[in-house]
Amino acid sequence: MDVYGGQVNKLIEELSGLPGIGGKTAQRLAFYIINMPEERAMSLSGAIADARRNVRYCKCCYTITDREECPICSSPSRDHKLIMVVETPRDLAAYERTGQYQGVYHVLHGVINPAMGIGANDIRLKELILRLEQQDVKELIIATNSSVEGEATAMYISKLVKPSGIKTTRIASGVPVGGDLECIDEVTLLRALEGRIMV
Ligand code: ZN
Repeated sequence: MDVYGGQVNKLIEELSGLPGIGGKTAQRLAFYIINMPEERAMSLSGAIADARRNVRYCKCCYTITDREECPICSSPSRDHKLIMVVETPRDLAAYERTGQYQGVYHVLHGVINPAMGIGANDIRLKELILRLEQQDVKELIIATNSSVEGEATAMYISKLVKPSGIKTTRIASGVPVGGDLECIDEVTLLRALEGRIMV
């Protein structure tokens, strides 16, 4: 029996499609939203619509941003000769939370994963190589996760970059194997960064 009516069901269905949200949580959130003051509910839906409509990739580092160039790439106080390669914008955010990294980033949006059919051309690698050709870079820090795919991608990048003579380093393995960068605490991230080794 349709207890709630179509529109409530639609909201529950949309919410339950989000990662980590099960049926019960979706119901709880739906009722929470319905009981919000109308203004707040509109502000929430507006924020979702605006973010989706306006968010794009930074033309330089490919993180998600609502500008042509993200705040990090456009900041004169960052060291633009130091580039850290990360898998996702969430990994970038994890390093930003440490507040200690002064360089800039390059977001790959994934790793090479042949089993999943993801090749070198499916991530932002060409863009990285182009960037290294066009900019004066003194160090490239490869900070992909320490999963099998993350390690393989790191190795692939270091081989690709080698002929350019740019110093290339890999974050230390203080990061647990298979560890997701965004779930690791800041101290561990900093240790991994400080203990980076030449590759
Ligand atoms: Zn950027």
